[in-house]
Amino acid sequence: MTNWAGNITFRAGRADRPSSLEELRGLVAQSGKVRVLGSGHSFNHIADSPGALVSLDGLPPEIDIDSASAAVRVAASVRYGELGRRLHEKGYALPNLASLPHISVAGSCATGTHGSGDGNGGLATSVRAVEMVTAEGDLVTLSRDADGDRFGGAVVSLGALGAVVALTLDLLPAFDVRQRVYEGLPAEVLDDRFDAVMSAAYSVSLFTDWRTSRVNQVWVKERLAPTFGGIDDAEPDGFFGAAPADGPRHPVPGVSPVHCTTQMGTPGPWFERLPHFRPDFTPSSGEELQAEYMVPRRHAAEAFRALGAIGDRIAPVLQISEIRSIAADDLWLSPSQGRDTVAFHFTWVKDPAAVTPVLTAIEERLAPFGARPHWGKLFTLPPDVLRTRYERMDDFAALARHYDPRGVFANEYVERYVFGRR
Ligand SMILES: Cc1cc2nc3c(=O)[nH]c(=O)nc-3n(C[C@H](O)[C@H](O)[C@H](O)COP(=O)(O)OP(=O)(O)OC[C@H]3O[C@@H](n4cnc5c(N)ncnc54)[C@H](O)[C@@H]3O)c2cc1C
Repeated sequence: MTNWAGNITFRAGRADRPSSLEELRGLVAQSGKVRVLGSGHSFNHIADSPGALVSLDGLPPEIDIDSASAAVRVAASVRYGELGRRLHEKGYALPNLASLPHISVAGSCATGTHGSGDGNGGLATSVRAVEMVTAEGDLVTLSRDADGDRFGGAVVSLGALGAVVALTLDLLPAFDVRQRVYEGLPAEVLDDRFDAVMSAAYSVSLFTDWRTSRVNQVWVKERLAPTFGGIDDAEPDGFFGAAPADGPRHPVPGVSPVHCTTQMGTPGPWFERLPHFRPDFTPSSGEELQAEYMVPRRHAAEAFRALGAIGDRIAPVLQISEIRSIAADDLWLSPSQGRDTVAFHFTWVKDPAAVTPVLTAIEERLAPFGARPHWGKLFTLPPDVLRTRYERMDDFAALARHYDPRGVFANEYVERYVFGRR
């Protein structure tokens, strides 16, 4: 069995698919080692298991909206695409989505998955409560209201605390978004106007191949109702010197825009505009590896220049890079914990041997800024260095020992990056 990208073959000796909560509880209590697999969209061994690899796809795909408290309780394995559709039908929305709707809610929150937007936290910041089956088969609920600080450790969990069976998420009233793509943003604009560019709309993404002095594309997503600023409609001709695209675009050169959500300024529901890719098409290029590094927002322009300086090493193995912004949060292992963040994402060619040394070069360049790698993507940062980039890492290790003293949910990845064992 492999992950979505096909670059990881899971080493788990057993694959299980319980069809009820009781079955899952029994399975966990009897297992020496368990990990839960979401939709398998991570690019490293984070989900792998030395024992059983459990899919929760067989549990009922519950989506229960509670209008009185503006919240939804959603089963762990539900994908954002389905959740978005159901919420919109009932007049609700989530504040933001990742680039693709194909990913499971629990798997995404467990790795700190995010979209873009100065005012938008990562997807896990919507989580109000976590229900999980812990190592002895107990069902434990942690909530923002009842569990205070400890709750901040339980959301971006890397799958190390237990098998999450449901999450409760905050809801907003449904809103519309319109999306426009601009081409050829002069890179020097980012030197002194990075903040102006990224704050020009609800969600802004920059796509660059690091080959020229221009950013290839800018994806601008405006929230229409209720209004949230947005770019000035009186200036539809350009965006900080970038020209409006004359038709739909895909961010990866040469890939058909049919995979992408509607552009050209046509308004539509939030769940069909905030992701870049449509649920019924392959997201991104499909043949790829990914990495992403989260840097404090105040260093954005400097980090952009530092990466530009090694553009000649990045470009030959790159399909496209995306730069996004994320609001600070207080979730212990969130890559945006404690700092407004700019994220530098890389969609690579599918050649690990060629890509790995470039990751190390990027990590060296971004080291002065304390860059945090995406938990679900490729990185080469040594565990002892990575651990120092999270103030609450020791607290998280203690929380994992509290809920899982036998290390049932620990795999090699968790041993290395959380517990610092070799
Ligand atoms: C094409 C593509 C585009 C992407 N775009 C973005 C993007 O825009 N932004 C971004 O931040 N990331 C992005 N990612 C990365 C992706 O969001 C993360 O890898 C995310 O974790 C995927 O969710 P998943 O359900 O596939 O998780 P998996 O890879 O299946 O699992 C991830 C982790 O979550 C744990 N887990 C899953 N379900 C449970 C559960 N029920 N209980 C306990 N632990 C669980 C697993 O054990 C594992 O540790 C992208 C990935 C791909 C392939």
